[in-house]
Amino acid sequence: PVPVVAVVGRPNVGKSTLVNRIIGRRQAVVEDIPGVTRDRVPYDAQWSGRAFTVVDTGGWEPDAKDRAAAIAAQAEIAVATADVVLFVVDAMVGSTDVDEAAVKMLRRSAKPVILVANKADNATIEMESTSLWSLGLGEPFPISALHGRGSGDLLDKILQAL
Ligand code: GDP
Ligand code: MG
Repeated sequence: PVPVVAVVGRPNVGKSTLVNRIIGRRQAVVEDIPGVTRDRVPYDAQWSGRAFTVVDTGGWEPDAKDRAAAIAAQAEIAVATADVVLFVVDAMVGSTDVDEAAVKMLRRSAKPVILVANKADNATIEMESTSLWSLGLGEPFPISALHGRGSGDLLDKILQAL
């Protein structure tokens, strides 16, 4: 079976942009409006001759209601059915209460998690991203999904974890 990598995080951190970067196509929908991806959307991906599935999800939020609750539930199913989880946070913003709540959810899942510090568009933000160690998920992996900075190294790290 092809290994599965789930991409999760709160709304607007750049999950879909990262998915597009990983698959090398602009297929996942990127929006300035939070909460555009409603379901779990699987895409075929390849790196260094290895095939895997990468799953885009909608923005995860704690204690969500109605539509947001359905989106969060789908993201949790994506985590439960993944081999590795990419937990995406916004390096420009730093860690938030919602990120901390997501960490608790991820711990319950007991899945291997790679902490992705996205929007590290330059060296300054990259350096500041070390503050994300506080989330307790180990070393933050700084990338810019938008510009491609660090994405090859991240893909190498994903393959190591699979
Ligand atoms: P999602 O809601 O987590 O799927 O986030 P999206 O991928 O839809 O992106 C939300 C917004 O963040 C869009 O305006 C993206 O262009 C922007 N964005 C995503 N990745 C980066 C990045 O690496 N750097 C910057 N500056 N913006 C980004
Ligand atoms: Mg999205």
